[in-house]
Amino acid sequence: MNLFDHIRDVPDFPKPGIVFKDISPLLASREATQEAIRAMAEPYRADPPEAILAVEARGFLFAVPMAQELGCGVVLVRKPGKLPAATTAVEYALEYGNDMLEMHADALTKGQKVLIVDDVLATGGTVAACADLARQAGAEVTAAAFLVELTFLNGRSKLGNLPVSAAITY
Ligand code: AMP
Repeated sequence: MNLFDHIRDVPDFPKPGIVFKDISPLLASREATQEAIRAMAEPYRADPPEAILAVEARGFLFAVPMAQELGCGVVLVRKPGKLPAATTAVEYALEYGNDMLEMHADALTKGQKVLIVDDVLATGGTVAACADLARQAGAEVTAAAFLVELTFLNGRSKLGNLPVSAAITY
């Protein structure tokens, strides 16, 4: 099973110059999805997290099956205004302007060991913001797991010494 074969490059999406890594072909294949989840969960089997922090929206798709494999639950990190109960928020810089992410204020407990999961690590801004959100709640962010890492964007540089894993790297 070659996971690369199930990722489609879409040039100039969402804007000129960006090559979007489209995971639709992977999701359309039961075998490829199963292999992706297995590969993403593998580094954490020996010392599983106590919760997975799932990043909207495509992170959700991988977080739940990974949590089932690793024996923990999932906490959603969402765009503003989507979560129904009391939230905490973090603002982070985009190329132009700022964006915000929210999490339920009671979602994590102090000292809880948390793994962040998303589909793609690009510049690292999104995951750095998620890590801030978890740490604000007193949780301990132990690592971040991705299906795809775009190493040429050097997203790891925004994550300090946080361990990072990816099933596929470009
Ligand atoms: P970043 O904050 O730059 O690391 O961007 C990460 C977020 O944007 C992830 O949630 C990805 O789903 C999405 N993303 C960024 N760049 C790409 C890309 N080239 N292909 C697919 N998704 C991307």
